[in-house]
Parts: sequence; structure tokens; C-alpha cells
Amino acid sequence: MQSSTVSTLLQDGSTKLRCAGSETPLLDCRILLAHSLGVSADALYSLYRDEVSAKAERTYHRLVHERSEGTPVAYLTGSIEFYGRSFLVDSRVLVPRPETEFLVDAALEKATGLPPGTILDACTGSGCVAVSLKAELPDRSIIASDISEDALIVARENAQRLAHNDIRFVHTDAVPVSLGPYAMVTANPPYVPTEQCPRRRGNASCKHSPAWEPMLALDGGQDGLDIVTRIASEAFATLCPDGWFITEIGHDQRTRVCDLLARIGYTNVSCTRDLAGFDRIICGRKTNRQSA
Ligand code: GLN
Repeated sequence: MQSSTVSTLLQDGSTKLRCAGSETPLLDCRILLAHSLGVSADALYSLYRDEVSAKAERTYHRLVHERSEGTPVAYLTGSIEFYGRSFLVDSRVLVPRPETEFLVDAALEKATGLPPGTILDACTGSGCVAVSLKAELPDRSIIASDISEDALIVARENAQRLAHNDIRFVHTDAVPVSLGPYAMVTANPPYVPTEQCPRRRGNASCKHSPAWEPMLALDGGQDGLDIVTRIASEAFATLCPDGWFITEIGHDQRTRVCDLLARIGYTNVSCTRDLAGFDRIICGRKTNRQSA
């Protein structure tokens, strides 16, 4: 039997994934084939005409099959790039989305002129936000919390691999109030309304494959706002004067979350959009009332 080349395997795999509904079939296949060959996705470009060993081909076919049934690419390769670093991920944590990089951008922007003190990353999941902030702001002390002990294991491993052993990880269901005050609280809380959280496995057309990811990281209650409501209130109680609360939101939650923050007492409430043009990040400040 004639051996397959990188080029033919990419063509065959992407046809299969396109039929299975993937919006990014060729990209998915490039990542999966590079992983099967043990090379970087960029290195594949110079290997297009090369023949692939039977072992790597078998691995690739298995991965393409699992992808066609909906498993996120990041779970198949075990890692994903976020804010320029590689994070370990598996089914214990939400796969970091590119839009969450805007949460890091917003936090770094507000970090200029921020009062001294600790930054808390609540609902840390894989730890991608906490580790990125520590890498960019090495002098800040960072606490990362999550309700899932399994997620914290992954987050700690990511911090260790990326040499940020000084992040403190805390198991708690919202804000570890007793460890405050905080200069800033960031969060990518679960915000998908319960009825929109698919309970069954889908196929590759589930862009974010929520059915494969921990429901704890997605399900935000009936209107999606249960957790953000709680974290925003607890954060307000424990933020330093002039500290910031910054949260990711669902694309249709802007008005409700801005109103929520204003009701709690935050000022300077604003929203920024992600690359797809969706409302995504909300910031609110706990103004020092004496100086306001
Ligand atoms: N952005 C994720 C999704 O749409 C949800 C992440 C979250 O709930 N924090 O699947």
C-alpha cells in the first residue's frame, strides 16, 4: 500500500472534519497531524511532500475521528496557546478561548496606576489568566481561586511549568474574602444560561464543545448571571479603594452586567469587545468615596 504524505493526510482529514461540521477543518488537522508527528504546526509547511510513518498515521486517524465526534482539539493535544504561552488542558478545565485574552489585556491596562496589593483571579480554571498576569506583572502577588479542586490541580501544574510557583491557589466557591483586600479582581466565571448548556456530546460543529467541558465552568444558572452577581458583590466588599473588578461576559449580557455593577456601587463601568465584535469584558472601579 502506498504511504500517505502530509499533504494527502491533511486533505483527507479536513474533508472529514468539514463534513462533521468543524468551522476550522484544515487548522484542526494541521494541529492534530503536527501533534502525531511530534513537530510544531509551523514545521509542517516544510514537510508537505514527506511520507508519514504508519504509526503517526494511525495516531492521526484516531485523533481526527475523536475530533469529528466533538472532542476539542486542545483536549486531544493536551495543550493550548494563551497569551503567548502554552497551557496544559484536559477535561478537568474549560479550554481557554482567545476572547479571554482580552480579560488579560484589560487587567494589564488597569494595572497602570493600580493601588498596591494583591490581584485575585476568581474562577481560575486552567490558571491561564492568573499565570499570564503573573508573567506580565511579576512584582504583584497573585491569588487564584476555583470551586473545582480538579481544576486547581491543572492550574497549579501550569503555574509550575511556567515557573510561577509563587501564585497562591485557593479552593473556594467565589471570592476568598478573608485573604483580601485586593487591588483587582479578575474573573471568567461560568456565564452560560443553564438551558443553553448542552448535556449531550455533539460533533465538530460545536465550536466550543461545551458538552465536553466541565459544566461547573460553563453553567451560570437560569440567566447565566448567578456567579458573576456573587463575585461582583463579594469583590466590591473586599476591593481596596480605587481597585478594579474585571469580568468576562456572554455576548448578550452587557446591559445586565453593567446595571448590576452600577447597582452594587462600582463606578467607571465600561465594556470592551472581542475580535469578533461581541461585548466581552466589563470593568468597574470601586471609587474611594472620600476622593470621589
Ligand atoms: N465562552 C464560553 C462558551 O461560550 C463560556 C465560558 C464561560 O462560561 N466562562 O462556551
